[in-house]
Amino acid sequence: MPRTAAKPAEPAVVAPADAASTHVTPSMAQFLEIKAANPDCVLWYRMGDFYELFFQDAVVVAEALSITLTKRGKHLGEDIPMCGVPVVRADEYLQRLIRKGFRVAVCEQLEDPAEARKRGSKAVVRRDVVRLVTPGTLTEETLLDAKARNYLTALHRTETGTDEAPLPYALASLDISTGEFEVGEIAPGDLAGELVRLAPGEILATDATIAGEGVKGFIAQAGAAVTPVAAASFDSLAGDRLLKAQLGVSDLAGVGAFSRAELSAVGALLKYVELTQLGKRPMLRVPKKTGTDAVMVIDAATRASLELLRSTSGEKASSLLGAIDRTVTGPGARELANRLGSPLRDLVTITARLDAVGYLVDEDPLREDIRDALRRSPDLARAMSRLAFQRGGPRDLAAVRDALAAARRCAKLLTAKARDVGLPRNLDDIARRLEPEGLDLQRRLGEALVDEPPPMRRDGGFVREGYSPDIDQARSLREDSRKVMAALEAKYVEQTGVKSLKVRHNNILGYYIEVTANTAKPLLAPPQSETFKHRQTMVSAVRFTTDELADIEGRIATAGERALGLEQDVFNALADAIATAQPVLGSLAAALAEIDCAQSLAEIAREQSYVRPVLDDGTAFVVEGGRHPVVEQALKSERKGPFIENDCVLGRPAPREVRPAGFDETASGRLWLVTGPNMAGKSTFLRQNALITVLAQIGAFVPARSATIGLVDRLFSRVGAADDLARGRSTFMVEMVETAGILNQATERSLVILDEIGRGTATFDGLAIAWATVEYLNSTSKCRTLFATHYHEMTALAGKLPDVSNVTIDVKEWQDTIVFLHKVKPGAADRSYGIQVAKLAGLPAPVIARAGEVLRLLESSDSKTASAAALDDLPLFAAARPKGRVPGSAAKPSPVDEALAKINPDDLTPKAALDALYRLKALAANNGA
Ligand code: ATP
Repeated sequence: MPRTAAKPAEPAVVAPADAASTHVTPSMAQFLEIKAANPDCVLWYRMGDFYELFFQDAVVVAEALSITLTKRGKHLGEDIPMCGVPVVRADEYLQRLIRKGFRVAVCEQLEDPAEARKRGSKAVVRRDVVRLVTPGTLTEETLLDAKARNYLTALHRTETGTDEAPLPYALASLDISTGEFEVGEIAPGDLAGELVRLAPGEILATDATIAGEGVKGFIAQAGAAVTPVAAASFDSLAGDRLLKAQLGVSDLAGVGAFSRAELSAVGALLKYVELTQLGKRPMLRVPKKTGTDAVMVIDAATRASLELLRSTSGEKASSLLGAIDRTVTGPGARELANRLGSPLRDLVTITARLDAVGYLVDEDPLREDIRDALRRSPDLARAMSRLAFQRGGPRDLAAVRDALAAARRCAKLLTAKARDVGLPRNLDDIARRLEPEGLDLQRRLGEALVDEPPPMRRDGGFVREGYSPDIDQARSLREDSRKVMAALEAKYVEQTGVKSLKVRHNNILGYYIEVTANTAKPLLAPPQSETFKHRQTMVSAVRFTTDELADIEGRIATAGERALGLEQDVFNALADAIATAQPVLGSLAAALAEIDCAQSLAEIAREQSYVRPVLDDGTAFVVEGGRHPVVEQALKSERKGPFIENDCVLGRPAPREVRPAGFDETASGRLWLVTGPNMAGKSTFLRQNALITVLAQIGAFVPARSATIGLVDRLFSRVGAADDLARGRSTFMVEMVETAGILNQATERSLVILDEIGRGTATFDGLAIAWATVEYLNSTSKCRTLFATHYHEMTALAGKLPDVSNVTIDVKEWQDTIVFLHKVKPGAADRSYGIQVAKLAGLPAPVIARAGEVLRLLESSDSKTASAAALDDLPLFAAARPKGRVPGSAAKPSPVDEALAKINPDDLTPKAALDALYRLKALAANNGA
């Protein structure tokens, strides 16, 4: 479901000027001042164990979260609406609000209420906003999807250019929860697809950019919230400065070449991060330069129709990603999703990835050991990011420790293997990054932290015993207070000879020494009274204290605080060490994600018998025994029989290229017209070839017996039809806009999948459009194409155009029904068996019978006029007629028909034949009268 645009709450009902008003209490003045500084956020105002919301914020949030709206006190004579969320459940409520498009300003108490009281009984506890939470700036595990990236994207275009030469959009995207960062430019025609690929949680843009042609719709399609920002934020000089500062470089030359527009987008992005994180700097990886040159361009409609990351109903399970994901960590799953979103065109990188997968496919025990090690690897990048924002806890330190241990284990597994058989370059590089030289952090974290630290740093208890003598001493004093007091008590009993002497504690006196009234006398007189100072006399007891007791009491009280303070120092030192090692750890985190992704691709290849594809710079497309990765697994799990594999050879393979067994030279066109009955498997066949191409170009093995594919620059898929009423387009209009996109953009290196275009209009218009489209794709675009259609008239094109071949999908007719064989073979279908499929679908029998009659009539008419005339004879189209006039088997035969039926032409002499003709004419004349 697309997320709604950010929905700021109305500003508080009172302007800041009122804060100075004499009617306003100091705490109200403080609230109003903070609210006025954050007008477009709902303000979460910390009061003890609750975040409270007031005024209009309370009204909208109570409704959004379905929590009780109450009131608290009055302001300027009016009740103040209020609602609250408990601090312990804050993340859960925050998540719901962010999902609904709210922005939240979190305001904390910056001092202990006791400290405030020292300034006077009416002093207000100091508070301020510590963070703005928006959809694109999340870092908490509970607010994020472990398996999906969460980009904040700045979208920028200063000028639109001309119609002939439109200027590109610049985009800068950062996931502040991991530091993943990419910057690039994109042509306006590719913007929609790029936004769907990036899938940002939040987009920053000026009002003018948002109002650009189609932009609002593209953003909605990508499911992002929009935050309008001022044009002044898109400042290239600021972008240059902030980027250098945050990457710690004095020159960007070593980082990449950025256009002015790109730097402007970077400027707006980094400024917004500073603003929402109140100056705290995010972890930033060196930006990846993206654009359309390095990757396979896939437009938004194609992404949706191929169900790469999500199915059309929005789930991951039945998408390509869902079918092939065998990763065992969140970062690995994100890496796989990113790769599927951006198949490559760079043969060197694809080959390196394929080498890594190929190596792991053949090494089952190694792969299992790596999976095992990775299962214990937490999300390193996200833990580091929380620590960088000073939002991390002891468990984030432990996450770094455990991820380092997992990384070392993987590195050892790889290098041990390397000694035997050598590693491909890519895996060798991963192994080196997994165990960086001179990084001493793992040992340090291991020594400092308990095995399973508690979540909150403020509660302490995360430093391991034996790590710091000072902490151990402070802790033992606190924990051993009972023992210490018992020892003191024994000492005083012996010193005074009073056997009933006790050391006790209450909340008013603290620790004290108590003896019964009748044994108190020696303690009240010198020399004992010099040690034992009288405090209280009760009816039956007398109480004392000593300097030693007071001293121990003081030390016990401060020991707890001291232990906590010392633990905080340890925390800070470890967090600093992690921050210092950030570049090395960032690369190590990426290596962990890459190895998980590689093992996942190897695992699925092994599990489902995928093969290594052969890719080159040509335009070949030879898939032998291809399968649909998602349908194949679905059939298996539902035990619906095997998936039938099919070859696809677009264009005549060069002599050196593989020819599938039984390859038929008659089906060697670059464009295949696929005809066949409904439900035969046309769409499945079309899509499986597109998905095989995507998998091959992310560097994965593919579901086929062999595949040789010349790198595809753009992939287009138009399958099925959908309304886009929100953007004012009907089904047919959407179809035509998408077809126009394909015809205008497809090149000789593209792969085009078209399924039943021209269906949303009158038959002849549709057929004409489909016909002309095939001619254009064949002679102008010259791309590799699969074109499925039920317009059987189009199969005539194969005879006219040399690069067009007909293929059909086999079915068998059996006892008035059909059996689907799902096998693609050369040739054309002459019918669609629509009525048989409708029967299988359970249409009522009379409707099926009637449809059969109508079809026979239509098929017997050889022109449009004739069929109209024939239809006019049918009750479907004409006014209701009496029963018995229905054509076909149910109609009563006419006298002419009856006479004709009795005639056997072979038995007639020429004279008898002439007589019969006269008789029939007479009968017909009588019948018509
Ligand atoms: P229509 O013309 O009605 O859209 P179609 O020809 O496009 O139909 P598909 O939707 O591709 O048919 O396939 C229908 C069903 O047939 C699929 O859901 C799948 O279960 C099954 N199927 C398709 N191809 C195969 C195959 N190669 N092996 C086994 N089953 C298949």
